Amino acid sequence: MSLKLDGKKLSLEIEERLSNYVSSNEKIAKRAPGLAVIRIGEDPASGVYVKNKEKACSRVGIKSFIFHLNENVEQNKVEELIRKLNFDKDIDGMLLQLPIPEKFNEQRLISYIDPRKDVDGLNETNIGKLVKNEPAMRSCTPAGIINLLRSHNITIEGKKIVVIGRSLLVGKPLSLMLLNLNGTVTMTHSKTKNLNEVCKEADILIAAAGKPNLINSSFVKEGAVIIDVGIHRLNSSVKNKTKLCGDVLLEDVIPKVFAYTPVPGGVGPMTVTMLLVNTIFSWQKQFGLLSTLNDLLP
Ligand code: NAD
Repeated sequence: MSLKLDGKKLSLEIEERLSNYVSSNEKIAKRAPGLAVIRIGEDPASGVYVKNKEKACSRVGIKSFIFHLNENVEQNKVEELIRKLNFDKDIDGMLLQLPIPEKFNEQRLISYIDPRKDVDGLNETNIGKLVKNEPAMRSCTPAGIINLLRSHNITIEGKKIVVIGRSLLVGKPLSLMLLNLNGTVTMTHSKTKNLNEVCKEADILIAAAGKPNLINSSFVKEGAVIIDVGIHRLNSSVKNKTKLCGDVLLEDVIPKVFAYTPVPGGVGPMTVTMLLVNTIFSWQKQFGLLSTLNDLLP
């Protein structure tokens, strides 16, 4: 029987460690860790994600500061807010909830975030350090995937790993992190020829294409590990109900693989947990606290 890589369970275990860490260090730091979340506009999915982040913060003792801006706000006003938060002594981490309305220059805004507070690991300094394999804030979804593999003793070193997708949010940083951990990584994308054949070589196959049920058993080597990053909400046959699925046609693939991540309950919860980890790491550095959480860094 194949092994389910249960991200929900692991994220709860990590949260318990984080919560203990915060409560035993809060007296030394004289304040709780702080996370600022900037949301622009009314994208409903972003609203749900921000609420989930707020709840997760409160579970581990991080104080969250939500800045919900009207989409008519000017770019320079958002830049001003980011600069202010960069100097705010109660804030250890900051993120811009994506996507934001098109009129904004997203990359420019992200580049304004102090790299030490860039808990999404998306600004140039942190991406540059990732390329150089130097310690820095790492982006959350890739870092969560690495924790999920490690916690199940799935070795990365020497493995053939195929990553589907080359986005700045997932595919690229993930490929670099796996390469830094001595995986033999192939990055694929929408223009890759014979994707099916390339994927079949993989010991670990990671799907982050954003295409529902793209990957079926014909893409997968017998005994491989399959990680599904995609999240899609599809209409189900039951009236007015929707159903979540990933990039992988799981029922077809599960009988063939050694291990897999479910959707929901696989990569998703780990992403939020790594945001908490990054915020607490920034707090730990700020106050020179004892580092007992280093095993959570990719
Ligand atoms: P994106 O649209 O920015 O990038 C998708 C990538 O996949 C692109 O590089 C594209 O070239 C590639 N691609 C598209 N179609 C392909 C195909 N048919 N064959 C091969 N490659 C193809 O998306 P993203 O932000 O990287 O997100 C990918 C998916 O992961 C989405 O479903 C998103 O919702 C999900 N996601 C989940 C989490 C989580 O926490 N679970 C976090 C981030 C993103």
